[in-house]
Amino acid sequence: MPRCSHCKKWIVGGLRQEELRFCSVQCHEDGFLCKLVEGIDDEFVSKTVAEFHSQPCSACDRNGPVDLYVRHTTTAFVIHFSWKDSPKVCCRRCGVRHVLNGIVWTSFFGWWHFPFGVVAAPWQIINGVKQLISLPDPNCPSPELTRMVKLDLGNRHRM
Ligand SMILES: [Zn+2]
Ligand SMILES: [Zn+2]
Repeated sequence: MPRCSHCKKWIVGGLRQEELRFCSVQCHEDGFLCKLVEGIDDEFVSKTVAEFHSQPCSACDRNGPVDLYVRHTTTAFVIHFSWKDSPKVCCRRCGVRHVLNGIVWTSFFGWWHFPFGVVAAPWQIINGVKQLISLPDPNCPSPELTRMVKLDLGNRHRM
């Protein structure tokens, strides 16, 4: 049985990239795409991240910096249950609104399923609150934003 080239877990199926195999999209991104970025000039990478960080907000057209904000939600009705993390790149104002929107949504619509809603709704609300407590520092790009830009560079580098 093959092992994941990144986390070394035994896998059935999974993703294949050249002679490497990965258990999940996450491992593929971390193990393959991030490796590609290592081949690109460090200075170029940090310049690209910095430029991305300081662009104006695409949601409200105000000046940046922008960062990555995630709307964590669950949606539950008796027989339906789903959960979702929707990242958005925007300024702090829009970002806080985006995160709050997820908390409010989950508080109203996230509970009405047993057991998933009851277990997952508090989890997603906590994720939202945690994000509001530690908002990204406007002076430097967050690790999540940096990772996103690097993945994008890795993807482009592969072409
Ligand atoms: Zn893996
Ligand atoms: Zn904005």
